[in-house]
Amino acid sequence: MTVSPESSDFIRDLVRRDNETAEYGGRVQTRFPPEPNGYLHIGHAKAITVDFGVAAEFGGVCNLRLDDTNPDTEETEYVDSIVDDIAWLGYAPKSVLFASDYFGQLYDWAEYLVERGQAYVDDQDGETISEQRGGYGNPGVESPFRDRSVEENLDLLRRMRAGEFPDGSRVLRAKIDMQHENMQLRDPVMYRIRHAHHHRTGDDWCLYPTYDWAHGQSDAFEGVTHSICTLEFESHRPLYDWYLSQLPLPGDRPKQIEFARLELTHTVTSKRRLMKLVQDGVVDGWDDPRMPTLRGLRRRGYPASAIRDFCAAVGTTRTNSRQAIEALEAVVRRQLNTASQRRMAVLRPLKLVITNWPKDADGRPIVEHFELTNNPENPADGTRQVAFTGELWIEADDFAEVPPPKFFRLSPGREVRLRGAYFVTATDVVKDDAGQVVQINATYDPATRGGDSPDGRKVKSTMHWVSAGQAVEATAALYERLFLATVPGERTGEPLDDVNPNSRELLPAIKVEAALADTEPGTVVQFERLGYFALDPETPLLFHRTVGLKDEWANVQKRAGA
Ligand code: ATP
Ligand code: MG
Repeated sequence: MTVSPESSDFIRDLVRRDNETAEYGGRVQTRFPPEPNGYLHIGHAKAITVDFGVAAEFGGVCNLRLDDTNPDTEETEYVDSIVDDIAWLGYAPKSVLFASDYFGQLYDWAEYLVERGQAYVDDQDGETISEQRGGYGNPGVESPFRDRSVEENLDLLRRMRAGEFPDGSRVLRAKIDMQHENMQLRDPVMYRIRHAHHHRTGDDWCLYPTYDWAHGQSDAFEGVTHSICTLEFESHRPLYDWYLSQLPLPGDRPKQIEFARLELTHTVTSKRRLMKLVQDGVVDGWDDPRMPTLRGLRRRGYPASAIRDFCAAVGTTRTNSRQAIEALEAVVRRQLNTASQRRMAVLRPLKLVITNWPKDADGRPIVEHFELTNNPENPADGTRQVAFTGELWIEADDFAEVPPPKFFRLSPGREVRLRGAYFVTATDVVKDDAGQVVQINATYDPATRGGDSPDGRKVKSTMHWVSAGQAVEATAALYERLFLATVPGERTGEPLDDVNPNSRELLPAIKVEAALADTEPGTVVQFERLGYFALDPETPLLFHRTVGLKDEWANVQKRAGA
């Protein structure tokens, strides 16, 4: 990934030029305009960083505008989550606005166009209208209702507004050019009839504006100067400009600027498909840690600053491309490495008993405490006391009764270091009836206290551990990619065909050191040797693996020959 300085992309260059020529008198106003029909995802984060970032860098204003023009799919739940997620990401809209607040003004402007002979009521159904639109090299067909008189159009529009006609029976269309080479300008639909309850305007309206009719006009009402959106709207720009050029604008004429969507490998960023994952129960909800939603990433332990930095590093271009998800994870890992405290946890516990461990006068094993550094990257995080005694949990993977080649961890007769504590040597094992090793017996060398041998003896491996008597039991959720394919949907056209059926592994009985019982919900810690884990905000002692410790991004780059 090449890191391009944010201050020099084509959007900022354009804004700077507009400032130099005083096109908007030096004013910069942007907006982030989500439709409240789902939760925000990582792609939206990119748009948010651009919309808010550009405004902030030029001393301007960015509003949140909920583009709530479709009553069938929109809900207050989504509005609330959008407001909350933007705040979490670190941005504060100047105002929270709603396209539905402009329904009255939009309607007045529709009458204005009708009065000027620039819009007409079409009685044909949607299918016929779309057939008549034609295509590239395919002429458009004019509607038989195209030449209605202004009086008749006005009367019909008012009766549409009054609720006289059923859904789908009529639409209002702009009268532009049925032979235009840009399909968007072949008499686009401005209003459709929909008798539906709207989450804000209730039953006030049964006419709802299309995206194109609402968007640019809403920008103009609000005083937006630079209306930044993604490339799929490029072909809509002439229509955006056409509407604005026909209307008596209250102020400056806004300008639409498009940039490439952010897409990630192994990731789907389409609200409709993310909704399907939720509805089909593939994930637990919009905030499932496997989801690319801001809710999901947040629960997973991704710092908001990592998402912002990643978006900045990707840059803003007009070329569609897909970023490696490993690049995002590398930013997350880098930030968590500095920010998160170290703890010890054992995911797949195996008992280790130190047979020569001392006992007190009453015959009970003594308990020792070691002072361990919380974060080698940040001395200010201090140290903590960790209990150690003769019964410990170690990672089952760290033991092999018959060690394969290059296995340097514990095996019978071998000495290893227990991190920060002692050297131990495995002596023998205890097995259950099925022949499974259920306990390792070992001896320790008291001279190695603190984890170093005074005689300079070396060991090949350092292992993490948790003292059994003081351990707290917890649950860990380990995650794999939610989509197996690098480009979900590339094979069949349907991204959901590539869902990984085994994207989550729950380990219900991990052992963690006692200090973790007091961790604030939402905190991310590094489980030594295992990865970064976020404590669930709601379920006590449920840890989600945020990312592993290995930098896979370096390998991806190496494979790509970078
Ligand atoms: P979806 O297809 O998931 O429904 P959308 O584009 O319809 O997404 P909106 O809520 O309409 O979602 O989008 C709000 C803003 O976020 C728009 O300006 C849109 O261009 C931008 N946006 C959406 N997805 C991405 C993405 N993947 N990358 C960059 N910007 C995005
Ligand atoms: Mg949309």
